[in-house]
Amino acid sequence: MTLIEVEKLDAFYGDMQALFGVSMHLAEKECLALVGANGAGKSTLLRSLTGLNRKIGGKIRFEGNEIAGWSAERIARTGIAMVPEGRMLFPSLTVEENLTMGQLTKRSGNWTLSRVYELFPVLAERRSQAATTMSGGQQQMVAIGRALLSNPRVMLCDEISLGLAPVVVGQIYEAFNTIRAEGMALIVVEQDITRVLSVCDRLLCLLKGQITLEARASAVDMDKLTTAYFGE
Ligand code: ATP
Repeated sequence: MTLIEVEKLDAFYGDMQALFGVSMHLAEKECLALVGANGAGKSTLLRSLTGLNRKIGGKIRFEGNEIAGWSAERIARTGIAMVPEGRMLFPSLTVEENLTMGQLTKRSGNWTLSRVYELFPVLAERRSQAATTMSGGQQQMVAIGRALLSNPRVMLCDEISLGLAPVVVGQIYEAFNTIRAEGMALIVVEQDITRVLSVCDRLLCLLKGQITLEARASAVDMDKLTTAYFGE
């Protein structure tokens, strides 16, 4: 079943158009890799899906409901969670307080605080520490845990491994396998194409606000991807 369906999405910042007629879909339980150069429009697409970009045209359907124009809060409550670029944690709150922010959506499901601590044990050890005293990788785990605690149907992860130590990136990708096993759908924005292809089912490439390639992860033609990524 289709979870998200986007039709001819345009997005704007003031007069500047960042997305041009983007059409895409995400199936239930699917993992989609979203790649593209800096400024291609990846964050804009995720922010449009989560209601953070309101200056948009086109259609966005989630589980059959037209959600374009809904507030970010209503979209979060309906089951789309975001792990934003830069993590956006509350600096003065502890790890646990940041995590439980995710529960504000009041959605119930398999993901509880103790399950998040099982997934990332280091967060349990440091639950009372201010989140911003943690390493970048641990902060990314908090951001993922916070999203999981909203028990979404789909989690959108922006620049998931940017600037993180390779060992932590490995832990985060291992966690994705557990998260997927629970049936959650994912969209992952990632610079490391080889790594993201190792967990995802399908890949979309954006260039200058347009989709330039869609392919099954197991059948990506690297020459075609290079052209789709950088242009002719
Ligand atoms: P990056 O990897 O750099 O985050 P991206 O693919 O996520 O790139 P976006 O951040 O979506 O790209 O940016 C798409 C276009 O929109 C770019 O031209 C960017 O300069 C512009 N843009 C993004 N955010 C804003 C903003 N808040 N105000 C004005 N223009 C913006």
